[in-house]
Amino acid sequence: MDFPKTRYIPMNRRRRIYEGKAKVLFEGPEPGTLVQHFKDDATAFNAKKHEIIDGKGVLNNRISEYIFTQLNSIGVPTHFIKRLNMREQLIREVEIIPLEVVVRNVAAGSLSQKLGIEEGTQLPRSIIEFYYKNDKLNDPMVSEEHITAFGWATPQEIDDIMALAIRVNDFLTGLFLGVGIRLVDFKMECGRLYEGEMMRIVVADEISPDSCRLWDIKSSDKMDKDRFRRDMGGLIEAYSEVARRLGILTEGDNPKAGGPKLVS
Ligand code: UDP
Repeated sequence: MDFPKTRYIPMNRRRRIYEGKAKVLFEGPEPGTLVQHFKDDATAFNAKKHEIIDGKGVLNNRISEYIFTQLNSIGVPTHFIKRLNMREQLIREVEIIPLEVVVRNVAAGSLSQKLGIEEGTQLPRSIIEFYYKNDKLNDPMVSEEHITAFGWATPQEIDDIMALAIRVNDFLTGLFLGVGIRLVDFKMECGRLYEGEMMRIVVADEISPDSCRLWDIKSSDKMDKDRFRRDMGGLIEAYSEVARRLGILTEGDNPKAGGPKLVS
């Protein structure tokens, strides 16, 4: 009898490892793997604002799959292995570094508020910021000094993270520019991937319109989670448009019809 290479265990029978605001992690089919499931939950302001937006998980799964596949193919290491179905992807288990790494090209959001720089101002150069991932503390901004003093990452790891952040930013800026979208800023997370005696830092979590600011080049329309944060509506339409421009959503696709389906 032939056994398929990857065992597919229905979601309700898999061991839940971790549940976050927009995603759930389940035990994977092989040791060292996990299944990352994208929910339709949208949260902002440290989960004070919460809504279910039908179809968001399906779109983020597809967009993040596309970006991580491209990153892997240009030699930027990530945790991503493959998409399993409409809402799930197979990933490598990593030890998440408790930092949100934000890269900014254009002033917006908290940078504009804190420093009084008008939204939309092109920054003199890309700026990398670190936030300590801690909901109770509202993810405070931290410096390299805090990160090394409290042991969240070593100086070498910070160097590796910054090098990855710059490569991801360069790649994403070009990718989105090619489809008429301005990459204002984005957030990424990194993890330690252990392979035998070796450890390396890889890009983890997701990269999607939930974690990026994306503005249409011509109209400056927002095509990201700010539509939800600022009660603008039209979030699914905007995320679908991002997917469509990237060539990953064809006319007939309906992200709202998204039950788990196995893809080959
Ligand atoms: N971001 C994120 N998760 C967070 C905080 C920020 O994905 O918990 C992203 C956000 O979508 C934006 C970038 O990081 O693309 C910079 O966000 P900012 O610091 O301006 O905070 P915000 O104004 O979104 O609270």
